Amino acid sequence: MREIGRAARSLLLLAALSGPAVAGAKVLTGDLALIPGRGPVLKSGDQQYRLSGADDDVESLLRDPRMAGRRLHLEGQFKGSDGFTAERLYVLRGGQRYRAIYYCEVCNLTEFQPGDCVCCQKVLDLVEVPPDDARVIK
Ligand SMILES: [Zn+2]
Repeated sequence: MREIGRAARSLLLLAALSGPAVAGAKVLTGDLALIPGRGPVLKSGDQQYRLSGADDDVESLLRDPRMAGRRLHLEGQFKGSDGFTAERLYVLRGGQRYRAIYYCEVCNLTEFQPGDCVCCQKVLDLVEVPPDDARVIK
């Protein structure tokens, strides 16, 4: 019982340190790697977690080769012993959290999944913006 209490306390501490999050969500930080045949994996210390996205937006970010190697702050739920389902994804850079979005500078158009701009057909850029940037509309 004592072990369970300690684990619960450390989770509470983690939640308190990480600020507002999805209710009941756990935080996982580490480096994203795309491993052929295994999909996206987060390397966190000695551990590796198989990642999936809770929705199509997060899933497509996790599978974007341009995201590989970036340090991520994920909020979501652990799945089994080595899995994690991410509900929210932030890129960590210089101690700050950024949202990753797809953006066309020419048309000032934001999307949340990769592809071509619906307006000028240019490939959308993957850009990191502060969480309160006006382009982050959800
Ligand atoms: Zn465009």
